[in-house]
Amino acid sequence: MRAAYMYAPGDVRVIDAPDPRIEEPTDALVRLVRTCVCGSDLHPYHSMKPNPRGVSMGHEYLGVVEEIGSEVATVTPGDLVIVPFVFSCGVCDFCREGLQTSCRHAGIASRRGSQGSQAELLRAPFADGTLYPVAVDEHSEHLASLLTLSDVYGTGFHAALTGGARPGATVAVIGDGAVGLLAVLSARQLGAERIILMGRHESRTDLGREFGATEVVAARGEAGIEAVKELTGGDGCHVVLEAVGHLPAFEQALGIVRPGGSISRVGVPQYTEGPIGRSQFARNVTVTGGVAPVRAYIDRLLPGILDGTVDPGRVFDVELPLDDAAEGYRLMDTRAALKVMLRA
Ligand SMILES: [Zn+2]
Ligand SMILES: [Zn+2]
Repeated sequence: MRAAYMYAPGDVRVIDAPDPRIEEPTDALVRLVRTCVCGSDLHPYHSMKPNPRGVSMGHEYLGVVEEIGSEVATVTPGDLVIVPFVFSCGVCDFCREGLQTSCRHAGIASRRGSQGSQAELLRAPFADGTLYPVAVDEHSEHLASLLTLSDVYGTGFHAALTGGARPGATVAVIGDGAVGLLAVLSARQLGAERIILMGRHESRTDLGREFGATEVVAARGEAGIEAVKELTGGDGCHVVLEAVGHLPAFEQALGIVRPGGSISRVGVPQYTEGPIGRSQFARNVTVTGGVAPVRAYIDRLLPGILDGTVDPGRVFDVELPLDDAAEGYRLMDTRAALKVMLRA
């Protein structure tokens, strides 16, 4: 099969790789319909340690079940399935609590070293707990939006939900990438009336306005903090959703959060230390968020996609064949594309 591998910063190649196969009775084999490049794939694209054997890339996937192991009960060959970016057993206590990312048998840890999703075929472990069948076919008009349920829409929703977006709250979103824009959409769905989007790319912030942002602040750092304070009577925002992952974005979040407010982080942190001292303590700031258990949110978010109420798939502005994955990375890295969808 064809699959995208990364060898060094800026070096992505689509190569012939061995076909995965069913290894456990709980596995399913899924054939690619759509996958994509994630903002988090750009972190290794900038800084990975060169690896001559390459690293299989990707974690967002929509496909058709080709084959199932003997113990798989909830999907059958031919089903179109959403593949969330973490595997989960579906039956342990954390899975039942809706925190599939901490699944006792799979979860985020199982992704380390596993095959990536930018490939024609995917072995999905714990198929019953992980795969989410959708009653549409692979020519559905909703494919782009369904693909967002494997990561970015669920992640944006996780930010808005854990941050406490609600009617009456003023919400700020830091970052105009796909997750930030879908955090705007999610905050609006949860009832926030005032949503300040902080981002500098006008075509993206324009989409953010269509998703529900009421104001846009292009300035960053101290100037950005001042601008948001000015918009909020000097107090800042009840809820800040941080969808970038770099320390300056977190510092910006601390600068614009209102006393008693919360910051939800869903950008993968590229730092290990940050300010959590007395000034944050004194203002009763809650820091929440984390890696999103997107599997838990599909039940809630899918109906709005299927009935056309929301169209989160609009974050994909470029579509390429899988063989052009390297070009997809380049377009996202140079910000020429917001989010690149790949097809078989
Ligand atoms: Zn992702
Ligand atoms: Zn589990």
